[in-house]
Amino acid sequence: MAERVIKDDQPRTYFDCTKCPAFCCSIYERVTVTKRDINRLAKHFGVSVEDARRDYTKDFEGERVLKRVKDVIFDETCMFLDQKTRGCTIYHGRPGVCRSYPGRSRCAYYDVLKFERIQQGDENVVPVVKIIFREVEEVEVSDEDGTEEIYEWKERTDR
Ligand code: SF4
Ligand code: SF4
Repeated sequence: MAERVIKDDQPRTYFDCTKCPAFCCSIYERVTVTKRDINRLAKHFGVSVEDARRDYTKDFEGERVLKRVKDVIFDETCMFLDQKTRGCTIYHGRPGVCRSYPGRSRCAYYDVLKFERIQQGDENVVPVVKIIFREVEEVEVSDEDGTEEIYEWKERTDR
C-alpha cells in the first residue's frame, strides 16, 4: 500500500458550513450575480435566461443580486436558503461568489458563532449579527495644543 503523504501546504479550514446557520447567505444584502451565474441558474431550473433573471435576481444599487426573503433567524436571507436545514437548495447552481466565499481558511462568522457558544455556555445559541459598512477618512485637525490625525466618518452605507 502506498504511504500517505501529508504535506504542510494542504489547504485546511477552520470552519464547518454544515454547523453554521448560514450567516453569509443572510447578513449580506448583496449576493452578486454575473451573466454566467444567471445562465447557470437558468440551466439549473430549466427556464429561460430572461425568466431566471426576472424571478431570481433583482437590481440593488445598479448591481444584479439574488433576491431575498424574510428569515426565521436573521431579518432576511437568500431566497435559495432552506430555512430549516440552513443549507443551499441550489448548491450546484449557486453563483460564483457563494462558491469562493470566504476565500480563506477561517470564516469570521463561524469564529463568532463558536466564540459566543463558549461565552454563553450554550451550544445552540446563535449570535444574530448585522454587518454595516462605513467609510472612514483620516483627517488632520489642529488646535492650540497641536495637530493630530483623527478618523472622520463618511456617509453611512448599509449593504
Ligand atoms: S458564514 Fe462561514 S461557516 Fe457559515 S455558512 Fe458561510 S462560509 Fe460557512
Ligand atoms: S445561493 Fe445558496 S450559497 Fe448562495 S447565498 Fe443563496 S443560499 Fe447561500
